[in-house]
Amino acid sequence: MSEIIAQALKEGRKFLLEHEAKALCLKYGIPVTKFKVASSVEEAVKFAEEIGYPVVLKIVSPDIIHKYDVGGVMLNLKSEEEVRKAYTQIIDNVKKHKPEARILGVNVQEMAPPSTEVIVGAIKDPQFGPTLMFGLGGIFVEVLKDVTFRVAPITEEDAREMISEIKAYPILKGFRGAPPADIEAIVKILVNTSKLVTEHQEIRELDLNPIIVYESGAKTVDARIILE
Ligand code: ADP
Ligand code: MG
Repeated sequence: MSEIIAQALKEGRKFLLEHEAKALCLKYGIPVTKFKVASSVEEAVKFAEEIGYPVVLKIVSPDIIHKYDVGGVMLNLKSEEEVRKAYTQIIDNVKKHKPEARILGVNVQEMAPPSTEVIVGAIKDPQFGPTLMFGLGGIFVEVLKDVTFRVAPITEEDAREMISEIKAYPILKGFRGAPPADIEAIVKILVNTSKLVTEHQEIRELDLNPIIVYESGAKTVDARIILE
């Protein structure tokens, strides 16, 4: 069992914090935004400078799963001054929305520029075991349910098939002059996610949502892992 998962279970947690989930992703070569967890405003400024502006600040709390809903996410911060303000604002927001929440720190991370968003997910099917999901982000998943599934483990060929069989595939190929997305980068993420969930049967649910895909490369901006 990975140290990260063992530690979470020992603390009685049923899910990994975003930075823990991203650390586990990194071990499997899944690209994520650069991040560091700060425990003071001074540290947040220092990390922002190391990472490079613009940055994103997010609350780190074992009592908060949906960070954005409690005012716990501040995007596109371009200077030391904005980081200082956002840090205080996040702590205030969280104390107002969820006074009982334990605050472990603030995750300072690189702001990924906008581009096509995809989702890679995994659930543990009671019959088939770890099963992967793929789709485009936003309305494509939530409204159109344009997603595809494969039982893990999957090969690169399976991953390419998954990507090309969703209805929104033409968007990834480059639609009306929009640049094509790096499909090979998504293939690698799918195969590596398959390895990750196959080797960690304690994972009940994994959600890389969204992954922002560029002409070259891709970056996971939020990662959620739920344990059994
Ligand atoms: P929540 O816990 O509410 O899901 P997220 O970490 O997903 O919080 O942040 C909310 C939204 O903010 C994301 O869905 C994404 O659109 C945007 N976002 C979060 N982190 C980044 C980042 N590092 N770069 C760019 N956009 C981001
Ligand atoms: Mg999210």
